[in-house]
Amino acid sequence: MARVYNWQLGREMSYWYPESRPQRQFAAVFDTNKCIACQTCTLACKTTWTSGKGQEYMLWNNVETKPYGSYPLAYDLKLLDMLNGQSWAGNKYEGQTIFESAPAGERVLGWRPEEQDYAYPNVGEDDCANQVDSGAFLNLPHMNWFFYLARICNHCTYPACLASCPRGSIYKRPEDGIVLVDQGRCRGYQECVRGCPYKKVFFNPMTGTSEKCIACFPKIEQGIQPQCFVNCIGKIRLAGYLSRPDQVRPDNPLDYLVHIKKIALPLFPQFGLEPNVYYIPPIHAPVSFNQQLFGPGAGEAMKAYRNAANDPDLASLLCLFGSTEMMVSRFRRTGDVVAGSDDKGAELVRVPMREPVYVRPAVDPKNQLVRINCP
Ligand code: SF4
Ligand code: SF4
Repeated sequence: MARVYNWQLGREMSYWYPESRPQRQFAAVFDTNKCIACQTCTLACKTTWTSGKGQEYMLWNNVETKPYGSYPLAYDLKLLDMLNGQSWAGNKYEGQTIFESAPAGERVLGWRPEEQDYAYPNVGEDDCANQVDSGAFLNLPHMNWFFYLARICNHCTYPACLASCPRGSIYKRPEDGIVLVDQGRCRGYQECVRGCPYKKVFFNPMTGTSEKCIACFPKIEQGIQPQCFVNCIGKIRLAGYLSRPDQVRPDNPLDYLVHIKKIALPLFPQFGLEPNVYYIPPIHAPVSFNQQLFGPGAGEAMKAYRNAANDPDLASLLCLFGSTEMMVSRFRRTGDVVAGSDDKGAELVRVPMREPVYVRPAVDPKNQLVRINCP
């Protein structure tokens, strides 16, 4: 085992390979407060990449309802249960990661789902955390809540799938950090399925190999966001490149949300993979639940999001989500307008922060009509 630095844990940790960061890292921010669980993302991915034989059960993108939803069944609860003592001292993780608590002879603490675990992709959908009694919604904070968690492969900095593979078939691209399975080398041992704590590698029984989200790399290479991003109805997603904490660029949308405002947080950072999909936590869910999912920064992130209306730069950046299919490398707010540009500085999109309101005349002689304007 090598010693590597995991900034999400605030400390060094053990990993199977030495630290080797890509030239730039593909990353994303998902705003859970805006997801409506329409599953358009799921279908956009399914129809693009996993409509073949042996891929029927594969959901490279899935959306589950928390607290009860999960795909495959209990993927998260099972590992949280196995991983004892997940304590933090401030922003430093004091517990063990899945690499550090690997049993003797194993590279990763993991488990492999049974076929049955993939049978209920919609388990817990729209189930509330508590019974909704009459009038309960009048109290704040209330304990009747649920929210939608959209998930793809995290293209982790320290992928457990890659560490687990005895064939060396999984690799992380140096140019963008996207994690891929070499279909020519894979022999279907499924150690990656066992090792990935997010269960985002799937075995294809027809080909005898493992397959996973490829971050739509043919689109990324052209500066276009992946399918599940550009088709997102709720406009909850923003793809880009995330800098290391010591190389932050304030005009990079992802750096701003993750490193500067710290409003977007990794999913289960305690597993130790430094995942690269970041979530703006749901502001109506209990802080303690959000902390278990997103780490100790959840409470502050919720406060910052609640205050976004008083924070013009943050508010402007939130307007850029879903505004263009291109990857936005830089953003700049001027008054009430935010502009996004590519990495060469060419403007891609310009979005007003406030929608203009037009009141049409009730009597319109030009078009010879009378309108009934509702107040
Ligand atoms: S989320 Fe799982 S499949 Fe994706 S890179 Fe991380 S360990 Fe590998
Ligand atoms: S398309 Fe967007 S809003 Fe709809 S379920 Fe997927 S992430 Fe949520």
